[in-house]
Amino acid sequence: MQNIPTDLSQQTVIVTGASSGIGEATARALVENGAQVMLAARREGRLKELKEELNKIKPNAAAYCVTDVTKKSQVDALFEATQKHFGGVTALVNNAGLMPLSMLEKNHVEEWEQMVDVNIKGVLYGISAAIPAMKAKGGHIVNISSVAGHKVMPGSAVYSGTKFAVRAISEGLRQELGDRIRVTIISPGAVDTELASTITDEDIKQKMSGMQNTAMDSKHIANSIVFALSQPEEVSINEILVRPTQQTGM
Ligand code: NDP
Repeated sequence: MQNIPTDLSQQTVIVTGASSGIGEATARALVENGAQVMLAARREGRLKELKEELNKIKPNAAAYCVTDVTKKSQVDALFEATQKHFGGVTALVNNAGLMPLSMLEKNHVEEWEQMVDVNIKGVLYGISAAIPAMKAKGGHIVNISSVAGHKVMPGSAVYSGTKFAVRAISEGLRQELGDRIRVTIISPGAVDTELASTITDEDIKQKMSGMQNTAMDSKHIANSIVFALSQPEEVSINEILVRPTQQTGM
């Protein structure tokens, strides 16, 4: 086994999708627990604001790099910026994602492509950059899947497909490199974030509005990520499924 860092104060964590929701809460929880974070997303204003907030909690703990995870060159540049700014990277939280749910017969092909590009290819680009950055010294990759990566419902075929893929890719990564790079899949149930705003289908929007009433705060998912990242070296948390207590169906 390599020296997989477990003490959060010794860790530098890249968080994609850090401009809102689960990514933002994760970055905050990591800094509160002593880690350094590189914030990545497309909305620079949000990243800058969060960086300033986090650096008040722990000076120089946060930096940001504007990144579109659908562009491999930008994900590679994110890792280079992290290396340059913090001197290395010990963990990656592959969190950026979108969820424009719709029935297949509505034929929202562009949205299917966006989900494949962000939810699958974005995760793969992160893994591609993380392996060479972590293989020698050890590291940890946390991939955000979903309850929809375990179950399919009408309207979730493509989104679920991308989240099943995240779990399959993570399991393959664990089997191939898990002794050097710990791999964790986090599968949240409903979380109160901006995610549902990516839904354009009116029928699905209406159905989803009911679910948001019981949704969890993002900080609960952030806590699961902190838990996984801070386990002793010989413990690898492979998968966590977290639902709101009131979410007893899907
Ligand atoms: P949000 O919409 O609040 O956050 C999504 C994040 O992804 C934003 O920071 C957004 O930043 C970023 N993002 C989207 N597209 C890109 C891109 N091309 N490049 C870089 N960043 C991108 O939703 P959540 O916090 O809920 O979602 C985070 C993850 O959690 C997703 O993978 C989602 O599928 C998963 N999840 C969420 C659940 C929920 O109920 N909320 C349940 C299960 C899983 P920006 O627009 O600035 O680029």
